[in-house]
Amino acid sequence: MSAGKIVVTGASGFLGRHLVPVLHNTYGKENVLSFSSRDYDLMDIRQTEKMVSETKPDVLIHLAALSGGISDNRERPADFYFKNTILTANVFETAARGGVKKMIYTMGGCSYPNKAVSPIGEDQMWNGFPNEISAGYACAKKMGIVAGDCYKKQYGMKTTILVPGNMYGEYDNYHLTASHVIPGLIRRFHEACLKKENTVTVWGSGKPERDFVYAGDVAAVFPFFIDNDNEFGPVNVSSGTNATIKELAEIIAELTGFMGKIEWDTSKPDGQKIKIFKVEKLRSLGLRCPTSIRDGLKKTIDWFAANYSKKGAVRL
Ligand code: GDP
Repeated sequence: MSAGKIVVTGASGFLGRHLVPVLHNTYGKENVLSFSSRDYDLMDIRQTEKMVSETKPDVLIHLAALSGGISDNRERPADFYFKNTILTANVFETAARGGVKKMIYTMGGCSYPNKAVSPIGEDQMWNGFPNEISAGYACAKKMGIVAGDCYKKQYGMKTTILVPGNMYGEYDNYHLTASHVIPGLIRRFHEACLKKENTVTVWGSGKPERDFVYAGDVAAVFPFFIDNDNEFGPVNVSSGTNATIKELAEIIAELTGFMGKIEWDTSKPDGQKIKIFKVEKLRSLGLRCPTSIRDGLKKTIDWFAANYSKKGAVRL
């Protein structure tokens, strides 16, 4: 299928590493150009202009962003606000001026209001302020929705906004404390096995429920949005299934081969009790994120175990 020239920013990030192979397979390597901050510094509008004029994208997939865990967001909210604001502004402005026909833009589920009611449908996006701690990041990314409307009206550039749920998989951030729950637990259980420890401590009560989505499934829906010129508004891209943190910890323990005891550190916050995304809109387009939590975790854990000791292979 020909979509013209597809350009991906942030290609060396978590989702980018899953997406680029999908695009290569679907459109051919010669039609896909992928960049990271080493190629063009998108914080600089002149470099961003250069990227657009040198690559002449028909479709620009903008994944470049500064993202981080809850503790990172707490410590440097201004960095998350500033960097994501400038990246969004520079990329939309230069893309539109450079004649890009279509943008695909991603933003996190944390951009929904803190008081959003699960299952969280796209219609809840503007019903309130996001969680206080990550609001700098969440609101900066959310401006991509506004940008999409503005550049459509003034330049006729189309934008599709995809909102992945709680995404996990290979190439994630496996930092011990600054990661999300799945990479955090995979690392802790794996290391407990290596060190022959008898207990692993998991944060909170184990009761919160989340809707986890395998990153490979998120990457797999992109071609639909590249090929389809209709306008959809934001679309949640998630599995729509729930798992409790307790179920999750038990599966990870089993798949990593951990035979010891799981302890719950209830002094750590549970966060939101339930955060599940509505996926009717995705399904109405004939799309789904089908990988079960067990299958997705198996692939992720196998990859993690194979790469853990290779220097620079895993973001630890
Ligand atoms: P959230 O969906 O924004 O709350 O993101 P997280 O992935 O950080 O946390 C999800 C749930 O997992 C919360 O209830 C945490 O308390 C719980 N949790 C258990 N162990 C861990 C861990 O090691 N790291 C993180 N980040 N969360 C954990």
